[in-house]
Amino acid sequence: MDTSAPTRRTRFDERIGRSFRTVILQPTSLCNLDCGYCYLPGRKKRYEILPTVVKAAAASIAEQNAPEPVGVVWHGGEPTALPIATFKQRLLAFEDLRIGGRVEHSIQTNATLINEQWCELFRTYRFQVGVSIDGPESANVNRVDRAGRPAFTKIMRGIGVLRDHEIPFSVICVVSPETIGDPAGLMEFFAGLGCTQVGFNIEELEGVNDSRALVDTGLAETFWAGVIAAHHRFPDLRVREIDQLASYLNKARTGRKEEWSKAKHDPIPTIAWNGDLALMSPELLGIDAPEHHGFVAGNVLTESLPQILRRAHHVSYIAELLDGLDGCEQTCTFWDFCRGAHAGNRYFEHGSFTATETAHCRNTRQALVTAFAATTISPAAINPKEK
Ligand code: SF4
Repeated sequence: MDTSAPTRRTRFDERIGRSFRTVILQPTSLCNLDCGYCYLPGRKKRYEILPTVVKAAAASIAEQNAPEPVGVVWHGGEPTALPIATFKQRLLAFEDLRIGGRVEHSIQTNATLINEQWCELFRTYRFQVGVSIDGPESANVNRVDRAGRPAFTKIMRGIGVLRDHEIPFSVICVVSPETIGDPAGLMEFFAGLGCTQVGFNIEELEGVNDSRALVDTGLAETFWAGVIAAHHRFPDLRVREIDQLASYLNKARTGRKEEWSKAKHDPIPTIAWNGDLALMSPELLGIDAPEHHGFVAGNVLTESLPQILRRAHHVSYIAELLDGLDGCEQTCTFWDFCRGAHAGNRYFEHGSFTATETAHCRNTRQALVTAFAATTISPAAINPKEK
């Protein structure tokens, strides 16, 4: 018997953190929209996060006692579909931690329900706000309400309220096969929108979104080339993916590559309204997968997050993921930058976390690097604030 083979515990500790930098909370399972590409299976049900669950999440953050503040991300459903009085009440569990600098709140919202009261809440509790919008009106055909009516006007009204109250916001834009041909138009729109940063999610197969057409990788490369070129014209608009690549390149150029290569994956505990939690990918929460117990790695009502993470190497899909990450490292020329992308895409595309390449990593990691390599723009020029 080969006793020198690394144990699963050791392999986990080389790749994945036992502590978390971010925790995602599901304030409500309900969403008031019904977007064509939505991955959430329970978005038509109204479950509200239990007071005991937020208290347990706060106690877990206190128990972890990390030197850096933990990001608490309120992500639904649509978080603002929870009545604001209930939301405020749930926030109280984190107040001592927030005031002590150990928690920073953020929210990802479709913006359609934002009003003055929500802006006041964002300001009081110092929320970082992220809005989901896919570009100008013609690019938002997939963002519709339950009756199939376009949500664009309501999204823009909500953004207008944020702007009126001088609440900074970033944007996540889903790039679909219909919009991937116009990177310059998207960049121009977001530069004019007043957002601080845009992140481009090229549409992928996730959750219950399992049958729409995927983007061709050649088009993805052309898209990223267009984004990089447009970034030159709109240097004040931060682009999440360009920032990530520039950060990697600058570390590599300045002899600090280990800071990148030794960084561990954040386990990103994602906690449902009832305390059940999934690890590694928020999209796994609520998915019907009996072979992995629905991806439920534990419940914060019966165990703290640090306790769950201490035994996380025994979770079935984490064990598969470790094999998948080993496969990436052994076979992929993009590993040095990518480090394995997102766990969920492997399962949703291949039915297993042991898979390596996915359409997501081809279109968002590989195509970005390939497009950048074909440009003559230096990382310092595309991201002058990057250190
Ligand atoms: S680009 Fe894909 S195959 Fe390569 S390391 Fe990333 S996830 Fe793995």
